[in-house]
Amino acid sequence: MAREKRHFTCVVCPVGCEIDVEAENGAILSMEGNRCKKWEEFVQQELREPMRVLTTTVRVKDAKWPVLPVRTDKAVPRRLIPEIMKEVSRIEMEAPVRISDVAVADIAGTGADVVATRSMERVSR
Ligand code: SF4
Repeated sequence: MAREKRHFTCVVCPVGCEIDVEAENGAILSMEGNRCKKWEEFVQQELREPMRVLTTTVRVKDAKWPVLPVRTDKAVPRRLIPEIMKEVSRIEMEAPVRISDVAVADIAGTGADVVATRSMERVSR
């Protein structure tokens, strides 16, 4: 990997420092814009493999609403998000659902589960 200049918004705390980094082969050569040192682990992870917690919805039947909010229970590789979304789009849960119920285990082989972020009662129609 050649020398590269990258820009990051640090998400470690709500300040959201805008950080400019010069790196080569994953090694940080210089940086500016940070207010503390916590940025380093975040930026190194971004250079290696950007990770994100994914929040989305899945279809749910026999509930008040047609969709249920869900999230991965840990960060997943950002490059796998399209594949994960494809898998999630095929899911349909059935009410009642409890918060933290697993919609999909080990989504796309990431080791992360997709879990409900709210409960939803069963509604008879
Ligand atoms: S660099 Fe430090 S102060 Fe700035 S957003 Fe990251 S953690 Fe917060």
